Amino acid sequence: MIRLQGTRIFGGFAFGTVCVLKKNRAQVLPASVDDTAAEKERFLLARQKAQQDLKELYEMTLQRTEDEYARIFDVQQMMLDDPEYEQSVFDLIDTEHVCAAYAVSETGKKLAARFEEADNAYMQLRAEDLRDISERVIAHLTDGHVSVIPDTFGSDTIVVAKDLTPGEIVRLDRAKVVALVTRYGSVNSHAAILARSLSIPSVTAVDFDDSIDGKAAIVDSYGSLLIVDPDEQTAEAYRDRQRQETARRDDLKSLKGKDNVTADGHRIDLFANIGSAADVGDALENDAGGIGLFRSELLFLGARELPSEEEQFVEYRAVAEKMSGKKVIIRTLDAGADKHIDYLHLPPEENPALGLRAIRFSLEEKDILRTQLRAILRASHYGNVSVMYPMIASVWELQELKELFEDVKSDLREEGVFFDPDVRQGIMIETPAAVLISEQLAQEADFFSIGTNDLTQYILAADRQNPRLERYSDPHHPAVLRAIRMTVENAHRYGKRVGICGELAADTLMTEFFLALGVDELSMSPPHILAVRDAVRKTDLRS
Ligand code: PEP
Ligand code: MG
Repeated sequence: MIRLQGTRIFGGFAFGTVCVLKKNRAQVLPASVDDTAAEKERFLLARQKAQQDLKELYEMTLQRTEDEYARIFDVQQMMLDDPEYEQSVFDLIDTEHVCAAYAVSETGKKLAARFEEADNAYMQLRAEDLRDISERVIAHLTDGHVSVIPDTFGSDTIVVAKDLTPGEIVRLDRAKVVALVTRYGSVNSHAAILARSLSIPSVTAVDFDDSIDGKAAIVDSYGSLLIVDPDEQTAEAYRDRQRQETARRDDLKSLKGKDNVTADGHRIDLFANIGSAADVGDALENDAGGIGLFRSELLFLGARELPSEEEQFVEYRAVAEKMSGKKVIIRTLDAGADKHIDYLHLPPEENPALGLRAIRFSLEEKDILRTQLRAILRASHYGNVSVMYPMIASVWELQELKELFEDVKSDLREEGVFFDPDVRQGIMIETPAAVLISEQLAQEADFFSIGTNDLTQYILAADRQNPRLERYSDPHHPAVLRAIRMTVENAHRYGKRVGICGELAADTLMTEFFLALGVDELSMSPPHILAVRDAVRKTDLRS
């Protein structure tokens, strides 16, 4: 059994057989041509065929989902019609006597690079469109295949690919394809947007190799996991989860709009954990009272290079705005350990979970942190934003962070940039050290959020990535529960809010314990919220 961790695009469970798609993109060489007029004609013909493809995709998308998604192909048609695009292809053919395919390839790269320079999410999508349309025209010029999606899949296919284009996703046979897994592609790409609109459980940023082709697998996109060759016990556990999920989903809908209050009047906030602005819909749909953990690293994991301040700002602002005044806690980059980000070029470590990860990386790479804090502060002007630092172990770390934060604020002030001057700074309690000094930390931090995933790993010295350690890695272990109790008591001693944002927050066996401790907030992946509300409402702390 292999567990491959990625980033969730659309949540769900799927069981099936892996089909690794191998893309044989036409290799485009600058073949020289004599008859440039004929070459230009060939381009026009190929472009016409590409236009036809896009029209079909537009119609197909309209039938399968909504107008706003079909527009992707409408926009692509307009881009293909752009006189500048045609002129650039013609110029290259005329002046360099190169074949049309090469001229299209160069034009696509040149124009996409221009959009990429603009450095914001909208422009990145346009760059993606340009690469897409150019590839489509090249395929018609070279007799290559526009799509690698086979016409027929076996039933219950889990499509695994380096990347998938929107056109490929729309053409998927939903009766056969149960999940999508890709290595590249951000959670905001068109491909991701379409996968969500079609409700296909999907995970990206998964590092796989071709050897998994043809193997049985499970996609748990709530946990952002591809599990290859699951053992019978794991498969049965997931089948069970899927059955339960389907049966309960309908019952729980009746709880929408109701309070998170026990029979004897104790209230608790139920918030959502998200990885991108695209998850906010899911959070609101499930009645999240706020965002208790925005895992900002997912923005970094899905990219090919460091996201700029502007890109981050656009994403954070979108979340703040969509939550319309409800609290949004943005966690700073939690890189390292299982969250490996290629372009950071972190040197290999003997013990990555104990290495230069999370806040340690940020404190060593202050420019990256500074950029992120600027983006978060700028976004704070558009909603109710707080910042949270992961994996704190010492008071000095928080003091250094607070100093940096003030510094960033004064830069923004000098530049005349708007931000909320009262942005709260919280910390994650994920290390035994943080628990043991929680009394001191509570005097420095504005709030706590307990990350039970890492806290369990570090308290029990059991790698959370190793499936063989599952029975050693028990979040219900008395040592973990005592750590939670101590943290909550120390936070409240200094009047600070304390939440729980690890997986344990969603565990309804624990709801009563958390309520009795007086935990202020539980934050979890959105599909769990109504189930926890149900558990809260069924609790009576008097009995
Ligand atoms: C945790 O450790 O509990 C947590 C919420 O952070 P992550 O799972 O992202 O490490
Ligand atoms: Mg953690």
